[in-house]
Amino acid sequence: MKAAILAIGTELLIGQTIDTNSAWIGEQVTSLGVTITQSLAIPDDKPVMIQAIKRLTRDVQYLFVTGGLGPTRDDITKDALAETLGVEMRYDQATYDRIVTYFTRRGLALSHLHKEQCYFPIGTQLLENTMGTAPGMLMKYNDCSIISMPGVPYEMKEIMSRHVLPLLRADQRSITYSQRTIHTAGIAESSVADRIADTLTILPPSLEIAYLPTLGTVKVRVSNRGPQSEAIVEDAVSRLTDQLQPYVYGYDGLQIQEAVQRLMIESNLTLSTAESCTGGYISHLITSTPGSSAYYQGSIIAYSNRLKESLLKVNAKTIQDHGAVSEQVVKEMVKGCIEALGTDIAIAASGIAGPTGGTEAKPVGTVYLCIGNKERQIVRKFGLNKNRIINIRYSSRAALIMLRKFLLDQ
Ligand code: AMP
Ligand code: MG
Repeated sequence: MKAAILAIGTELLIGQTIDTNSAWIGEQVTSLGVTITQSLAIPDDKPVMIQAIKRLTRDVQYLFVTGGLGPTRDDITKDALAETLGVEMRYDQATYDRIVTYFTRRGLALSHLHKEQCYFPIGTQLLENTMGTAPGMLMKYNDCSIISMPGVPYEMKEIMSRHVLPLLRADQRSITYSQRTIHTAGIAESSVADRIADTLTILPPSLEIAYLPTLGTVKVRVSNRGPQSEAIVEDAVSRLTDQLQPYVYGYDGLQIQEAVQRLMIESNLTLSTAESCTGGYISHLITSTPGSSAYYQGSIIAYSNRLKESLLKVNAKTIQDHGAVSEQVVKEMVKGCIEALGTDIAIAASGIAGPTGGTEAKPVGTVYLCIGNKERQIVRKFGLNKNRIINIRYSSRAALIMLRKFLLDQ
């Protein structure tokens, strides 16, 4: 079964609002076996809407439309739909009564514009919206069912969840679909592809593979449409995992910090962090997982050399001889942190996040990370780029990837 998505709103085209609706709808309906063949964002412009509706409905059974249902003049999706279908509008008293109740409960004043919100193209089935004033609409156009919903994400989700997804589930035309995602860390996308190339040749041709790299991790999406999808995907995931070890840290949305947390708790060890250039971001990642207190003790954010010396007992001479961004300093930071905070393991980060402050020997983006216990430390040097925030996020995730490796190598 095929479907298309149409996101309406000028704000989506000028970078004022990110089109999260299409992403959410795509994810939800794909999991039900619907194939999204096209997704389009257009402005609040009637001729453009009419053209898009006509074009997108041509080869699909469903068209999901969001946006342009507000009471204000810029919201004209209903007019465009009525014109496309060649029908008049009719007034719906029940919708007006619902809006009155909605406003009275919230102590808000009703505007004459709300009368406008009660007109719908004739032949429309209304889908109740308990989160706002504009109901969703279901209408037939040629062989396609058009479902039009408000742009406000939580209203759209409510209408989708309560009315539309059950409809799709009941639609006999949908075929089975299964999808899983393998998460790898510490291996490049091209190496992932090389490692699994041979296995892919023996898997069913209906199987689809996609590589999704972000910030030091590569996700491998494995999906299949058609009979026995679940068994085919499960078998493929298990074979591909075998080829990708020891880089697989989890599946289906698991975060690297969650994977690390499991390993830390299993090995019954405690952790602390000594952060310079990452300014607490490693700690933020770790503590964003519930239950992190079971192994994580805390952090010393030693941004200045003075605090590196006083709190982490980094030798002033080490800083003088090698610079604060150096292998020697991050090693001393790890040892000092273990000492000061009394943990089994510590992570240290020191680098030049940018955009300025680099030298020829140590350009912006030079970051040293160290993971270790009292006996053994591993250090890695990274040459990142000039974007401060990306450098901070990248090196923080890299630290967790290194910690995972450190724990597996114990
Ligand atoms: P509307 O139904 O056009 O009145 O949309 C109302 C609100 O929903 C606006 O504040 C938009 O920024 C937001 N919105 C509209 N379309 C989308 C979309 N595709 N993704 C996320 N937010 C949206
Ligand atoms: Mg709008």
